Amino acid sequence: MFPDRILPIDDPRLRRPSEPVAEIDTDTRALAAHMFRVMDAAHGAGLAAVQLGILLRLIVVDVEDGRGARHRLALANPEIAEAGSGQIAGLEGCLSMPGISQQVARSKTVTVRYTGLDGHRVSLVADGMLAVCLQHEIDHTNGIVFIDRMSRLRRDQARRQYARNLRLASRRDRSSESAMQ
Ligand SMILES: [Zn+2]
Repeated sequence: MFPDRILPIDDPRLRRPSEPVAEIDTDTRALAAHMFRVMDAAHGAGLAAVQLGILLRLIVVDVEDGRGARHRLALANPEIAEAGSGQIAGLEGCLSMPGISQQVARSKTVTVRYTGLDGHRVSLVADGMLAVCLQHEIDHTNGIVFIDRMSRLRRDQARRQYARNLRLASRRDRSSESAMQ
């Protein structure tokens, strides 16, 4: 059984680089399938294994590229082989910081090398949201979270908003508990 709980943004495990996936076996494929389920249930566009507390270089994405083509992929040992010179600053969210979206600067295009669930090492040239999402998830495998990429002002805004959301959520939990008694 794999964990279902997505670690919150301040969990120290999110700051640790993950280990390479040694080989693509049935465990790797089972973990990827589980990650797709967790990502879909949370309505996310991407998830890294470290977000479940599993420090392996495995990510899943389900997102459109610049032409609107959908990519639903599991990538083991993904790395950015090449980044285009152009930058974009789009709104980005993270399943470890639900409810927050904030501007982050990213390369407009990236070439990503990864091993697929069939064990083949391949290259993928990505643009649009796919490029952004891959950079975000590959950051996770290196112990980097999106707030690290924000300006100080935006990071402070994101942290304040997130803390406020958590307070509201715990207040809601308490009031639903008292309603049940
Ligand atoms: Zn994230």
